[in-house]
Amino acid sequence: MASLIFVTGGVVSSLGKGISAASLASALENRGLKVTMIKLDPYINVDPGTMSPFQHGEVFVTEDGAETDLDLGHYERFIRTRMGKINNYTTGRIYSNVIAKERHGDYLGATVQVIPHITDEIKQGVEKAAEGFDIAMVEIGGTVGDIESLPFLEAIRQLGVEYGRQAIFMHLTLVPYLKAAGEVKTKPTQHSVKELRSIGIQPDVLICRSERMLTEQERRKISLFTNVEERAVISAVDVDNIYQLPVYFHQQGLDDIVLEKLGIEANRSYLDDWIEVDDRISNTQHEITVAMVGKYVDHSDAYKSLSEAVRHGGLRQRIKVNIRAVDSSTINREGLDSLADVDAILVPGGFGPRGFEGKVKAIQFARENNIPYLGICYGMQAAVVEFARNVCGMEGANTTENDIDTPYPVIAMITEWLDATGKREIRSEDSDLGGTMRLGGQRCRLRPDTLARKVYAEDVIVERHRHRYEFNNNYRAEIKQKGMVLSGVSADETLVEIIELPEHPFFLACQFHPEFTSSPRGGHPLFNGFIEAALRYQQEVRGALPDGVVRL
Ligand code: GLN
Repeated sequence: MASLIFVTGGVVSSLGKGISAASLASALENRGLKVTMIKLDPYINVDPGTMSPFQHGEVFVTEDGAETDLDLGHYERFIRTRMGKINNYTTGRIYSNVIAKERHGDYLGATVQVIPHITDEIKQGVEKAAEGFDIAMVEIGGTVGDIESLPFLEAIRQLGVEYGRQAIFMHLTLVPYLKAAGEVKTKPTQHSVKELRSIGIQPDVLICRSERMLTEQERRKISLFTNVEERAVISAVDVDNIYQLPVYFHQQGLDDIVLEKLGIEANRSYLDDWIEVDDRISNTQHEITVAMVGKYVDHSDAYKSLSEAVRHGGLRQRIKVNIRAVDSSTINREGLDSLADVDAILVPGGFGPRGFEGKVKAIQFARENNIPYLGICYGMQAAVVEFARNVCGMEGANTTENDIDTPYPVIAMITEWLDATGKREIRSEDSDLGGTMRLGGQRCRLRPDTLARKVYAEDVIVERHRHRYEFNNNYRAEIKQKGMVLSGVSADETLVEIIELPEHPFFLACQFHPEFTSSPRGGHPLFNGFIEAALRYQQEVRGALPDGVVRL
């Protein structure tokens, strides 16, 4: 039976609960334990697939095709265990399971209630995901005191009783520093713990986020008021980069305290890989700028995995990567100024017509000026549209997502390109937008002698998908004949997965999302290749020109 570490948050949201939990999980994993993580989300959506990344941050996709909370992305970047469907439960999922069972007659006439039916469903979910591991960390979304999280807190309270010493509770709070008073205030933490205790949960460990390290006296005070041992009141100030956290928490004794409380013997800690990552982030030798041309640019978490992956791409060569967020709806043919001085251009995944034409223009600019380009999902579809229009002469070419009547539907739903003449036979009705996409890890075959084959150094790769539209095979021959290379195809050869332009120093776009499998400890071949191409471009092309002169 796995030991359980429950992680809750108090006072305010955005304290970095997921990252803190993942950092501790990593420190434990590096001591030779098998660790997994589970996220329990109180919202009613069955999964975050239908939620706007603008409001909620990115939708993270797992290998087994689940659309999950972005915290699972943090988990995979910190620990080696891969996440799946069973690692993320929402209120919506729990209720829909319970309601399905009720309709099926599984409750044998019982009145179905929050306690015990909903709480049992939550407990079963946790235990299923924890099976086979030494430790499972269970993070509860939201903040203690929210109405929605009550059933989850009740379920973990019950698990705490059942597991006895094999379960502990860790609570993250804020300890604000008041300038006017010149001191930190522990009252919000006291209240937050009081709230937890009123529902029967006594935290074992407190992680106190504050602007400055708490003094011994302050920690003693918090300990006294919250009934948490003084040494288990951990002070957490902002770090330079999040990948310092496993070491940071270890230095504060967090993994030792947790293991001692759980009665687990483990190896000595080994954190060299994180020290190495931090060294590569802190001691860079080069600096480049990548323009990320997208839609949801004003919400920093909307492209969380992507911005992490782009930065990881620089670590191998100690390149600091600045990301310039460019709102594609501001780009038009004349207004490419925001791209004039960058070292590379990236168009990420996206949906719908807003800003699409700006993306196409940015791609044309990258293609014509030999600026390294990486297109992801929508960024590949836009690259195919651009090439069809401007190189193949297919005026008005488009994806049917944006123009259902385009004369050249080079990107369309498979149901729309069944007709061998390229004319649409069926028009799909977008009736149900939840769970209708090609999702999850799929095999892709790489063609020999291509850039893709070179950067991956493998013949077959597995990458994760999340999209409805595809490269229309009826245009394969014509587009290939004009010089675009289809360097990656699905294992059965039926779908185009990667395109590239051999005449260009680095122009590659993929239908899948490589950002979901990038990690700070190894990067990802595509991002490594892309960022290194950006550095070459900066040194060889831009560096060779006098200041301020842009090659157009
Ligand atoms: N909107 C496109 C599709 O559904 C691309 C999706 C994406 O970029 N993730 O195919």
